[in-house]
Amino acid sequence: MDCPFCQSHDTKVTDSRFVPETNQIRRRRECNVCVERFTTYEIVELDMPWVIKRDGARASFDQQKLKAGLLRAVQKRPVSMDQIDVAISHILRQIRGLGEKEIESQKVGEFVMHELRELDDVAYVRFASVYHRFQDVDAFVHEVQGLLSTKNKPLVKK
Ligand SMILES: [Zn+2]
Repeated sequence: MDCPFCQSHDTKVTDSRFVPETNQIRRRRECNVCVERFTTYEIVELDMPWVIKRDGARASFDQQKLKAGLLRAVQKRPVSMDQIDVAISHILRQIRGLGEKEIESQKVGEFVMHELRELDDVAYVRFASVYHRFQDVDAFVHEVQGLLSTKNKPLVKK
């Protein structure tokens, strides 16, 4: 990296930090010649698989849509934007970790449910009810009971 002040090639990195919310690497740099400091941002290229929808249609992975779905689920729940961003980076990492060129939308939904389950029970059940399109009350009760038995605590914290 050339120094933007004196164009010297002799620069060094003094600090490097990954910013998961924006998938950027922020580097503090210093020129060894003129001693000026500057910051660079590198965007980590997201190589996301195609999403195969229920009807078989293929769509590019939409991170905004993913975020919108999470925000809808946590509406009026005690979940911060930071927690949402962290959950999204977990989901993206897991999906990329599969190393597949395509992923079914249902599989994406499962990753989302896993994260919501860690964050907030109510948000999880909200998302699950839309995602599973519960056909009847029994299916819904079954899901909630499964949640209760694994977490062993009340569904709604008072
Ligand atoms: Zn310089």
